[in-house]
Amino acid sequence: MPTAGKPALNASPINLKLAKLGLRRQEDFLLHLPIRYEDETTVTPIADLIPGEQAQIEVEVVHSEVTYRPRRQMILRVQDHSGELVLRFINFYGSQLKAWGAGSHIRARGEVRGGFFGTEMVHPQIKKLGEQSSLPTTLTPVYSTMAGVPQTLIRRAIDKAFSRLEIEDYLPPEWMKRLELWPLRQSLETLHHPPQEIKALSLQDRSHPAWQRIKFDELLAQQLSLRKATQARRARVAPILQGSTAPAGSFVKKFLQILPFELTTAQQRVWKEILGDLKQAYPMHRLLQGDVGSGKTVIAALACLQAIDHNYQAVLMAPTEILAEQHFRKIADWLTPLGIRVAWLTGSLKKSEKTKAQQVIAEGSAQLIIGTHALIQEKVSFAQLGLAVIDEQHRFGVSQRLHLRKQGGVEPHILTMSATPIPRTLAMTYFADLEVSVIDELPPGRSPILTKVVTHSRKAEVIERVRAWTYTGQVYWVVPLIEESETLELQNALDAYAELTSVLAPIPVGLIHGRMPAAEKQAVMDAFIGGTIRVLVATTVIEVGVDVPSASLMIIEHAERFGLAQLHQLRGRVGRGTAQSVCVLMYSPPLSQTARERLKTMRLSSDGFEISRKDLQLRGPGEFLGARQSGLALLRFADLDIDTKWVELARQCAQDLLTHHASHVEACLKWWMGGREEYLKA
Ligand code: ADP
Ligand code: MG
Repeated sequence: MPTAGKPALNASPINLKLAKLGLRRQEDFLLHLPIRYEDETTVTPIADLIPGEQAQIEVEVVHSEVTYRPRRQMILRVQDHSGELVLRFINFYGSQLKAWGAGSHIRARGEVRGGFFGTEMVHPQIKKLGEQSSLPTTLTPVYSTMAGVPQTLIRRAIDKAFSRLEIEDYLPPEWMKRLELWPLRQSLETLHHPPQEIKALSLQDRSHPAWQRIKFDELLAQQLSLRKATQARRARVAPILQGSTAPAGSFVKKFLQILPFELTTAQQRVWKEILGDLKQAYPMHRLLQGDVGSGKTVIAALACLQAIDHNYQAVLMAPTEILAEQHFRKIADWLTPLGIRVAWLTGSLKKSEKTKAQQVIAEGSAQLIIGTHALIQEKVSFAQLGLAVIDEQHRFGVSQRLHLRKQGGVEPHILTMSATPIPRTLAMTYFADLEVSVIDELPPGRSPILTKVVTHSRKAEVIERVRAWTYTGQVYWVVPLIEESETLELQNALDAYAELTSVLAPIPVGLIHGRMPAAEKQAVMDAFIGGTIRVLVATTVIEVGVDVPSASLMIIEHAERFGLAQLHQLRGRVGRGTAQSVCVLMYSPPLSQTARERLKTMRLSSDGFEISRKDLQLRGPGEFLGARQSGLALLRFADLDIDTKWVELARQCAQDLLTHHASHVEACLKWWMGGREEYLKA
């Protein structure tokens, strides 16, 4: 008898296809659960057929022919004891005409329609009835598959797996009892071969106990593998950056002294949490979460200084060049007076400058390195890296899986920053290996932003509003990102710039977009920060990080094209000063249902958490998490919205298994994760 975990298949072409479907081991087949069922257990008399419904009939063919009007087709006239019906085929083989000739007995299954020829079925599935053609007694499962892999083949393979694999339940009996869960074998058998008396609906909506068991196990396996990842991390080595209070003379202390403001209570709390991690001998994996403008950068700077205080290097990475630049300017302003050597590394540097930067980083003379994700990951070797801070803006946890080169077996601590809060269910599942700190308080003196939604037909009015605003404040005018065409996007920006320049003359209008050379971008930003430029036309390059407190009005064109997280980020560019800020979302009707929901959410809420929850709801976890880039193994069966109660229970169960039932842990992971653990490696 093959043991669990061994490949069930050799490398024949069909097996390669099965492997593409994720079907390699016996367990994989058993966990390849039906997407729906067909009820072939009953036969309906022709007289009882209801148009629009699926049905199965057993009939005798009275007459069969090929007709040519209105087009070539095969017509079978059939009858049972209760009436007559027509079966119609547009595509058919001559052999079928022969096989289903007058006098033959067949079973047909299809949708009943009232048609040109009276009540009929078009392209029903036909089974010729022979000696032993008894009806199936269980619902017929339908599996997800691909071209070249017929349902019957999958069904047979699953039945084979049932007979070959000894299904040992890895859940201790006390847990099955406590949660009233069905045994694994019984659940799998029920789902693959549901007896006909089962309510089809309970299978379809997955509320049946057999489904509940499967969903629980899936969540349990996820909890187990995440916890194992945490255990593995705790066994790895990172520099101990000890010291919960800064000793006199440390950079941390000096920095706190020169900072022109006090840390908020929330900032102080998260700083303590981070310090707590940095003094451990294993790598920190912490997510620093805080709404746009909550002051994450200061915390990042503090963490970097803690590493530098212990003679380690720190690196700060941002997703885009303009954001990296913002960080660089702000942090360099703060830290250069302390005598910290900061290196700057992005794609737009000249080759010679890059080489120079890489050199000072490798030698260790640069203490803090700031740049873009991609560049630093790929091209840089550090003398002695103690901490990596990764700014992800509105993604999270993803870079956690980044590979930063280890040196001498020592790994850096990792701090990720995100403005998008992780909804609770996701925090408990996909990110269970991540410690989370939250800045849940904005620095003092912020005023709430008023958000208005208007149609583009009111553009002239909006422009007048902009004109009036420029006398006392400054304005962002945002044109939408066009992913398919950067050229089109640029054209939009140029058009808006030309229009506003002429309509608003002589008010100075500026333009900033992603294609501009870095120096030019900087010159425009400087003029905007200095107040010479009153209206800044921008593509979404300003989405992240830009910090100009005197800009208090934002107009977003075609707001319906933006995602929620993006709108929230953009809007976060205003409301940074003391003046009342306004954000105007312009849209072109008609709106899709989700676009309408998004704009409404923006109008009603300024809370990043609420917006994020709505975003998750509108997009679903796969897209929300950017699963493809992150390599996260998504849940196949459990639905976090519906199965919330199982998440908590799976967590408790995982804890118990890990402490008291180690062998059960392995068995469960083997079933569910066999060969796929790499997805979850942190
Ligand atoms: P984000 O969390 O969006 O990255 P930033 O770190 O850019 O926010 O901070 C937003 C603004 O608030 C910056 O101008 C920053 O200097 C300022 N700031 C941060 N912390 C405080 C504080 N405790 N008191 C006053 N201003 C602060
Ligand atoms: Mg920021």
